[in-house]
Amino acid sequence: MSASPQDLVRPEIMALSGYHVPPAAGMIKLDAMENPYHLPEALRDVVAEVAYGVSLNRYPDASAAKLKSTLRETMQIPEACGLVLGNGSDELIQIVTMALAKPGATILSIEPSFVMYRMIATFCGARYVGVPLREDFSLDFGALLTAVERENPAVIFIAYPNNPSGNLFAAEDIEALIKAAPGLVVIDEAYTPFAGKSFMPRLAEFKNLIVMRTLSKLGLAALRLGYMVGAKEWMDEFEKLRLPYNINSLTQEIAARVLESGAALQAQAETIVAERTRVYHELAGMQGVKVFRSQANFLLLRVPDAPMAFNGLKARQILVKNLHGAHPILDNCLRVTIGTPAENDAFLNVLSELL
Ligand code: PMP
Repeated sequence: MSASPQDLVRPEIMALSGYHVPPAAGMIKLDAMENPYHLPEALRDVVAEVAYGVSLNRYPDASAAKLKSTLRETMQIPEACGLVLGNGSDELIQIVTMALAKPGATILSIEPSFVMYRMIATFCGARYVGVPLREDFSLDFGALLTAVERENPAVIFIAYPNNPSGNLFAAEDIEALIKAAPGLVVIDEAYTPFAGKSFMPRLAEFKNLIVMRTLSKLGLAALRLGYMVGAKEWMDEFEKLRLPYNINSLTQEIAARVLESGAALQAQAETIVAERTRVYHELAGMQGVKVFRSQANFLLLRVPDAPMAFNGLKARQILVKNLHGAHPILDNCLRVTIGTPAENDAFLNVLSELL
């Protein structure tokens, strides 16, 4: 064989750098918006029992029927809507984008936001347009509407609350956007457990609205389960692109049982929200730090020298996300996930030493 990757791989893929996940063994891990808590002991026993009973020799239930009905009951999914499951919500972003990536089709989002909207558009050969947020990370609604009219996007992705800024855009702006959009609007509610605001109850009002969720931030990141909800005729098309066994049997069984046990994860989310308030005030009181209000399980902050602070924290075994260089308005910004009180204290102490 004489061909090299340059000869055969699409140039836009050759030009990509892959999504980088830094090694984290032995670190206080505050970089990936994980819930810092284990499941409560009683639920871990349930998980062990469920895992014991799973037939690992068989393929999973391709329709994930039991898990879907548990999700419908526990997540207030409107009965008339369709429901599609993904191996993480990033797989759902991929499914939606793959389906809509006709030649010349445009995917639109705001920037800075979740980088996968852009990356997956590139994977699928779609055109991507990012509309900048204002310097304070608020939505420039006028600019967004102008871009929507000009670009005629097949789909608009909006993270609600937004990552990496953590803020929640005004519901009236999102509603006006959904009404003005010529195509679909995906409201990505990955951080809804910490914000308490959702478009799920409003799905019946808008035929072009999709609500996307994940269990990752709620405490089940290892299971990789995302779901999206919207008008049945749209979900039926997306379902065709879902690989038949994308949700493995352990995920199906464990997620259903944990969700049935209801309040445990939501209680952890409430603890995280209380810690977010405490850490926010601690950071706001630090000389040289600008911290932004967040409705998610992380905080965005600006420091005098983010690369130095990032490296200093890392040297003390604390991993946060360095966003310096990712976007002009993220200059000298770090993103820190809310951890346990002890982890947060360790972060605050080391950061204050570094300033
Ligand atoms: N949407 C947003 C806004 C995110 O920040 C993330 C994860 N960082 C995801 C989706 C993907 O989550 P997952 O694939 O774990 O469901």
